[in-house]
Amino acid sequence: MGRIRITGLFLALMLLLGGCVRTDPVNRQFFAMDTIMDFTAFGTGAEEALAQAEEYIVDLEKNISVTRQDSDIAMLSRVSGDPVRVSENTFALLEQALELCAATGGALDITAYPAVKAWGFTTGEYRVPGQEELDELTALIDYTALKMDKSTRSVSLPKGLAADLGAVAKGWAGQRLHDMLVEEGIESAMLVLGGNVQTVGSKPDGSLWRVGIQDPDSDVGAYLASVSVSDKAVVTSGGYQRFFEENGQIYWHIIDPDTASPARSGVISATIVGADGGVCDGLSTALFILGAEESAALWRSGVLDFEYILVLEDGSIHISQGLEDTFTLMNGYQNRKVTVIAP
Ligand code: ADP
Ligand code: MG
Repeated sequence: MGRIRITGLFLALMLLLGGCVRTDPVNRQFFAMDTIMDFTAFGTGAEEALAQAEEYIVDLEKNISVTRQDSDIAMLSRVSGDPVRVSENTFALLEQALELCAATGGALDITAYPAVKAWGFTTGEYRVPGQEELDELTALIDYTALKMDKSTRSVSLPKGLAADLGAVAKGWAGQRLHDMLVEEGIESAMLVLGGNVQTVGSKPDGSLWRVGIQDPDSDVGAYLASVSVSDKAVVTSGGYQRFFEENGQIYWHIIDPDTASPARSGVISATIVGADGGVCDGLSTALFILGAEESAALWRSGVLDFEYILVLEDGSIHISQGLEDTFTLMNGYQNRKVTVIAP
């Protein structure tokens, strides 16, 4: 009798605990912002929080897509010169984007769009523009010409210029979702927005999230290394994401504003690890353009808080010192030369 009662109590306790500590993941996948979104969250309220996250992304895309005629960003390029009143999230995203353009000395330039378009990256009708055209395009790239007015929440861009938030939007959005989930009481989540990974807290068991770094020379899903993080973003930009080949030359979608042509810095993939997803996304594009030396200089300057991993053309890898303990080469990549960049 006594034993039955104890077993009953034990069972009730188990059920109670089971009710409190939910460890099965909730997953949500959908296509948005030109990529696959894959969100996983744990804990009470995870289902609702991820539904809300998807809704947020769908709404944001309506405001910032360059290809939607009615978006803030498409309007901004179309009205040339006149101020356009934009939504709150577009304004906030533009503000951070411009700060990052300045902090990277214009390597990141959200007005690179006319060049992105001329090379065919927006339509898939790829072409190599001639030098004269490239000179004209270079003159059209100038983020300092984009003016913002906080009092009216409006933005303007001179005629001929066009903006595109492709280099920063997913990271910025990941950070907003992070903050939203935290507010909803979610303590553990991993949000994958294409090449952007945003983590919330640690794994449910308290251990770090392990995020794979794609091998830029291999098929999607082949990882050359990993980093372990908690509550951080890990964002990678690579030439392998969108490119075309002509006469044996590969041309990718990351444009050097100085030449209006695909960046050739010797870097074939740049990964940023940091506390702010927006900063990480902007910098992943910028470091790809800046190359190894200038990337190290930017990191050492301490202007922005981040760590980085660069894969160079010759296969060697540079990592900033803060990642030394959590960076691991995968099996099959153990012979890669890794240089730790010191402050
Ligand atoms: P992805 O969006 O593929 O993850 P990135 O974050 O590096 O990769 O963003 C690349 C996109 O940013 C390009 O597709 C283009 O729309 C835009 N872009 C290209 N060059 C630049 C640049 N120098 N500055 C800002 N945006 C750029
Ligand atoms: Mg980026």
